[in-house]
Amino acid sequence: MISPMSAVVIVGGGPGGYEAALVAAQMGAHVTLVDSDGIGGSAVLTDCVPSKALLAVAESATQVRDSGALGITGAADAVGVDLAAVNRRIRDLAGAQSRDTAERCEREGVRLLAGRGRLDGPGAVLAELADGRTERLEADAVLIATGARPRVLPAAQPDGQRILTWEQVYGLAEVPERLVVVGSGVTGAEFACAYQALGSEVLLVSSREHVLPGEDIDAAQVLEDVFERRGMTVLRRSRAVAAVRTADGVEVTLADGTAVRGSHCLMAVGSVPNTEDLGLAGAGVRTTDGGYVEVDRVSRTSARGVYAAGDCTGVLMLASVAAMQGRIAMWHALGGAVAPLDLRTVSSNVFTDPEIATVGYTQADVDADRVRAEVVTLPLATNARAKMQGISDGFVKVICRRGTRIVIGGVVVAPKASELIFGLALAVEQRMTVDEVAATFTVYPSLTGSLAEAARRLRAFD
Ligand SMILES: Cc1cc2nc3c(=O)[nH]c(=O)nc-3n(C[C@H](O)[C@H](O)[C@H](O)COP(=O)(O)OP(=O)(O)OC[C@H]3O[C@@H](n4cnc5c(N)ncnc54)[C@H](O)[C@@H]3O)c2cc1C
Repeated sequence: MISPMSAVVIVGGGPGGYEAALVAAQMGAHVTLVDSDGIGGSAVLTDCVPSKALLAVAESATQVRDSGALGITGAADAVGVDLAAVNRRIRDLAGAQSRDTAERCEREGVRLLAGRGRLDGPGAVLAELADGRTERLEADAVLIATGARPRVLPAAQPDGQRILTWEQVYGLAEVPERLVVVGSGVTGAEFACAYQALGSEVLLVSSREHVLPGEDIDAAQVLEDVFERRGMTVLRRSRAVAAVRTADGVEVTLADGTAVRGSHCLMAVGSVPNTEDLGLAGAGVRTTDGGYVEVDRVSRTSARGVYAAGDCTGVLMLASVAAMQGRIAMWHALGGAVAPLDLRTVSSNVFTDPEIATVGYTQADVDADRVRAEVVTLPLATNARAKMQGISDGFVKVICRRGTRIVIGGVVVAPKASELIFGLALAVEQRMTVDEVAATFTVYPSLTGSLAEAARRLRAFD
């Protein structure tokens, strides 16, 4: 434990870094934050914030396009998208969010340095600043929060025009006519959904049997059905090995030798950690074979006084987890009360249409007997509010432990599932029983009514 008034140096200004900086400053430490690309990090500038802003536009376009089914005339066929304007707005709002975050850090007393940081032994950081100077910063505690970047296949080099990473799509001036999305994980699925709604013909190349291999299988099935019903082509068990430009677009070669063509290609084949050239080995910080920094549940690395948070640790690549790891690191380093990171209480969301939100234990855990639990799934099609809003796809799923009836997990597949999951997340975090959830009033009519209804049905198992 070190005392407040200590010197803390943070390398990387994404959610892992800036949230840690705010906590450390609040606890009275002298905090310096070195960042190379803008406060807010990839989360704010290239990944999370811009992609969710794009998906918000896509959602609006879909709502207008589907409004005919509710009896609204004149709108459905008139939807058009000015992608140059959409992207300008997105870049502006991401930039503004970055500036807001930087201003907040400075207001709270954090010293911000623009440049690249690297460890100079475990107790110091060498900062090569954007203005050409170099500063050596002594530290009682160092936090590495340098994030990750898109993985690039050697035979599919992005050119920023036709072959794109998810960081480059905000430069597009027109909606791609035919977009090949390579990768059907969360990022691939979100972009496939967005561009289809914006008017692209989308071909999704999935190396697995189903899209979203890491998610609830029933939820993934709903999404796949919706994608295909709207006209998307999903190529299953197809691994892309190369992408090259042609005279008027791109050609993507699959592992079986066949090729698919499009006007553009978006590569979403995972991330690699930004952990090269950080002086980690010299400072005694161990990394995994994949280059991720090894950390324990209070964000300690193998080097005394050096902590790490966020995507560079590969623990769970979410902005919310990065931020929590960063805060935990500072609470631990500065002697505050600290509970170790508990991934079982993390709620996460896939921002497709419909959204897929999850928390806690999964159906796969139950099926594999990793936990003895009961599961109730209720389709939204029977929910009164869903009928009024014209929602026919989606469900809620609640998982409780056998015996104690404590809620240990759940899934919501619905518009705004990211908001609806909070009730279940609260139940999981607070170890509430299905009785307690069932006894809680929900608004009538509401989608949350289905959550309480699922809890009521789980009581019936006793
Ligand atoms: C397309 C996409 C959408 C996503 N959407 C969501 C979402 O909706 N919700 C969610 O929770 N998560 C989302 N994520 C994940 C989320 O963006 C990451 O988990 C989050 O950015 C991790 O934060 P971080 O602080 O670890 O790193 P980052 O946000 O990557 O920030 C790291 C910063 O460190 C800087 N840096 C790197 N090396 C150095 C160095 N040597 N010196 C100084 N600075 C350095 C980088 O330039 C960057 O500014 C999404 C990811 C992607 C790819």
